[in-house]
Amino acid sequence: MTVRCNKGGCKNTAIIHQKYAGLHLCEPHFVDAVEGKTKREMRKQSMIERGDKIAVALSGGKDSSALLYMLKKIFHNRNDLQVFALAVDEGISGFRALTLNNAKKIAKELEIELCICSFVDEFGFTLDEIASKGFEQAPCTFCGVLRRKLIDKKARELGATKVATAHNLDDEVQSIMINYVRGDISRLKRVGGRRKEFIPRIKPLRTVLEKEVALYALTAGIPLSTVYCPYAELSFRFTVKRMLNEFEMRHPGTKYALMRGNERFLRLLPTVQSDKPLLRCELCGEASASGICKACEIVERLKAT
Ligand code: SF4
Ligand code: ZN
Repeated sequence: MTVRCNKGGCKNTAIIHQKYAGLHLCEPHFVDAVEGKTKREMRKQSMIERGDKIAVALSGGKDSSALLYMLKKIFHNRNDLQVFALAVDEGISGFRALTLNNAKKIAKELEIELCICSFVDEFGFTLDEIASKGFEQAPCTFCGVLRRKLIDKKARELGATKVATAHNLDDEVQSIMINYVRGDISRLKRVGGRRKEFIPRIKPLRTVLEKEVALYALTAGIPLSTVYCPYAELSFRFTVKRMLNEFEMRHPGTKYALMRGNERFLRLLPTVQSDKPLLRCELCGEASASGICKACEIVERLKAT
């Protein structure tokens, strides 16, 4: 049976059932809804300012490709803004070369400048080499720290005033849950914000569900990748992701409820630590909470093995 869109008086065929909102939406109404959520979030968090140069972290996967497409679409007549893309080659065989190809394709189609940097050039190791050392921590732990550092560094070198990442609602709620499960309240505060010593990060898709970003990407003609990082399943995040998806399936709206509940909780927390000045890393000179930054700590550890 054909299900019809129930937005206003629309009678188009629906392409999605948003159970959490009780809505069936056709393609135009769905696209409007996703872009509307993104614009509202950008306004609410004052993400974009006049004259911004935005570095979009582009992996070539559906989320970052959809983000690049959407930013270009939303800001096409803002002459004061510049958008460019930054991709990182971590050195993951059988995976990254394919997604980097997608990144090149989408950047070319959208006529957006793309800068590609790599772990091996910057740190002297590929992620595959790091993973082969058999450390206790999952590869994602190393990957996340090194990628953040590389993106920050390149974005600064290229004069960016903001770094936009494609974190969606699922990613945000996973981070919140991980911090709750670990009892890490200080990190919980950081999910929403960033120290002023770093280029501000913005997450325009943070209120859009992952599956809706995927559907949006499809409507924009962005092909969904069928390759996955071979290390993803080894991470703690993957376990949390599965659990949250199960909850959402049984109780639609769980992810939104967790995010909103966390925002209310954070408003009750005093602003502490974040005002303490950061140190400079003794090895690379970057802002760091300790004498040696996390990325340099990893590099030194690798050199020693
Ligand atoms: Fe890196 Fe983990 Fe993402 Fe793979 S899944 S790219 S290892 S953070
Ligand atoms: Zn350092």
